[in-house]
Amino acid sequence: MKQLLSLLLVLFSVNAFAKIKVVATLPDIAEVVKSVGGDNVEVSSLLTGGTDPHFADARPDYILKVNRADVVCSVGLDLEIGWLPKVLEKASNAKVQPGSPGYCELGKSVKPLEIPTGVINRSLGDVHPHGNPHFTLDPLKLSESGAEVVRVLSEVDAAHAADYQKNYDSFKKKMAALHEQMKAKVKKVKVMEYHKEFTYFFNSYGLESAGSLEEKPGMPPSATRIAEVAKAAKANNVKVLFATASAPHKTLERFQELSGISVVTVPSYVQSSGDAKSVEALQNLLVKSIP
Ligand SMILES: [Zn+2]
Repeated sequence: MKQLLSLLLVLFSVNAFAKIKVVATLPDIAEVVKSVGGDNVEVSSLLTGGTDPHFADARPDYILKVNRADVVCSVGLDLEIGWLPKVLEKASNAKVQPGSPGYCELGKSVKPLEIPTGVINRSLGDVHPHGNPHFTLDPLKLSESGAEVVRVLSEVDAAHAADYQKNYDSFKKKMAALHEQMKAKVKKVKVMEYHKEFTYFFNSYGLESAGSLEEKPGMPPSATRIAEVAKAAKANNVKVLFATASAPHKTLERFQELSGISVVTVPSYVQSSGDAKSVEALQNLLVKSIP
């Protein structure tokens, strides 16, 4: 009996100190959660930063991870709409379904840019109806997004609510300092992007953007569009076009040929390996990429 009691006691105390298992969609989101959650959470990311989050698949290993999670955190603003709802459904974990305490969309505490006005339909391309979801490239917006993590973790684990708030305050300071540091380094040239996923980065540092090479989000631009944009960009003194590795190669080459403007291919999310392994490293890489 005495042995059983001590065993129960051990089991109980292990449980009391068990970390909250958080599954994030992207490494950037995982970094925010880790910063806010500290030692009370165990965080992993489904994507590694190399997969385009607009077009990921509902993979069996994602479903398994979500099945075992206490909390699921995503960018939101419909960025992961093509696959995350399927993963959540198949994972059949009541704790993390939309509306449950363990469901967390960081975009909820961010004021998005480019909220579309007027009627939205498929003919306009893959328009994000709640505004541009690519806020993770602005350290200050990323900082704002942490408020939602504080809210969710404090609800799931009220005993550590004060820790979460305290960690969040340090995270905000860290992001503000990073922003200041990058702002001092950034070259103020005219920029462009292939898809509107660097918009927040440009906006954060006051870089003047001539827009995107894509006319409709998620749809490759026509030959006419490429020629027109190249001509206008050249006349406008655009210095560089930012694109990710998932942008069509030939289109970028054609644009470069016609305009003479340099195209840089850089990640738009934190990567699990390589030289953009953290928010800070990614910011440094992007700032360095401006010619
Ligand atoms: Zn997008």
